[in-house]
Amino acid sequence: MIKNEHKKHYDITIVGGGLAGRLMLAVIINCGAFDEKKLCWINTDNENFRDVRVSFINYKNFIKMKKNILFNISSKDYSVIDKIELHNTNEKYPLKLHDLNNHGIIIRNDILKKNIKFSEKKVNIYKSKVISTRFDAFKRYLFLNDGTEIKSALVISADGNLSPLRELCKIKYFNNKLDHTIITGYLECKNFENSTAKQIFLKDNFIGLLPLKNEKNLINFVWSVDNKILNTNRIDYHNQIIQMLNKFFFKDKLIFNLPRSKEDKFKRVQTYPINVKFVNKPFKERIILIGDAAHTIHPLAGQGFNLSIEDCFDMVKCLKNAKFVGRDFGTLSLLKTYNNMRKTRKNFITLATTLIFYVFSKKNDQLNDIINFNIEKIEKTSLKDIFKFLAKGY
Ligand SMILES: Cc1cc2nc3c(=O)[nH]c(=O)nc-3n(C[C@H](O)[C@H](O)[C@H](O)COP(=O)(O)OP(=O)(O)OC[C@H]3O[C@@H](n4cnc5c(N)ncnc54)[C@H](O)[C@@H]3O)c2cc1C
Repeated sequence: MIKNEHKKHYDITIVGGGLAGRLMLAVIINCGAFDEKKLCWINTDNENFRDVRVSFINYKNFIKMKKNILFNISSKDYSVIDKIELHNTNEKYPLKLHDLNNHGIIIRNDILKKNIKFSEKKVNIYKSKVISTRFDAFKRYLFLNDGTEIKSALVISADGNLSPLRELCKIKYFNNKLDHTIITGYLECKNFENSTAKQIFLKDNFIGLLPLKNEKNLINFVWSVDNKILNTNRIDYHNQIIQMLNKFFFKDKLIFNLPRSKEDKFKRVQTYPINVKFVNKPFKERIILIGDAAHTIHPLAGQGFNLSIEDCFDMVKCLKNAKFVGRDFGTLSLLKTYNNMRKTRKNFITLATTLIFYVFSKKNDQLNDIINFNIEKIEKTSLKDIFKFLAKGY
């Protein structure tokens, strides 16, 4: 019989070299319960590409990562956020959320990725894209572009918002176009407190402002803009956002400028279309989706990767239980148990962020007044805790 050299057999295969795929592998390897030689990682990402966006990581998830993976990150590399301010058009004052510990941290994605460490020595890594898949009673098969065939008891797919594997496996999902575009980049602002993150809800524009610690006075912005505005005005993004922010924060004497940094990476802006994707059952025979493939949400509360961190830790709990009783990793009951663990929080965050998006994007002057009136009331009540819950992760 001719042995097919391109056929490889594994216990667990992880697809995707983004934040979710990398973290999943790091959590599995660092828990020490699995044979690394039986793990496979399909990572087609270019290691030289630097994603200079930033992520807000909530307190609980940051602690979990620090405890469980080789996450030897320097405090120089992240800002600790102990105050979140929510601003609205014509506000008297913002809703201020303080936290005795802190809400979480802000870190650049490239620094975060570099610090999600694990020993890659024994893991089998493939650099070619998955182009098709099938399954039988015992394995899922992945066919790569370079002709390799991978056989695995379980595939964990972190292949992003567009998730080719979700399509190939015909996993159903709701897709809701939000008719907004996300624009992200950097600005400079001198008096911006390093420990405060701000979210501003203007008409047709939502802006998240996230301070960086190690780069002087640099603020990352995540600007969600109505496509109607974007399409009719072909504008200089930096100029437009600076004008809006300087007008809004005139009362607080905050002045925003173009970044003076010589580094090109801080001068660029990136744009992303934004759809909400809700996957009720993110699994099929011997495959489970995690990360953006399983839930894509609006970034206004900075919770997309936070959900993925929780995915990784809950998945490893299920895998460890299966290993303990000697059960096959790809059984439907394991995938269902995992989904039951994840669904309350995934549903809550998807619903909360989508509701916030619609309330603020559809508001007229009257609704705006009602929002401001209630923000003043919320400021004095424990209802504030709902927002803290959103930000902090519990
Ligand atoms: C502007 C912006 C700001 C954000 N801010 C925050 C924040 O502050 N906090 C937060 O928690 N979240 C935030 N998010 C969300 C967060 O960035 C995402 O949730 C996270 O990056 C998703 O990671 P992922 O690994 O699931 O997907 P991706 O990063 O998209 O990775 C997908 C991977 O799959 C691979 N892949 C795709 N197809 C194939 C294939 N056929 N074969 C093999 N590999 C394949 C790709 O090469 C890639 O490596 C933000 C998002 C945006 C757009």
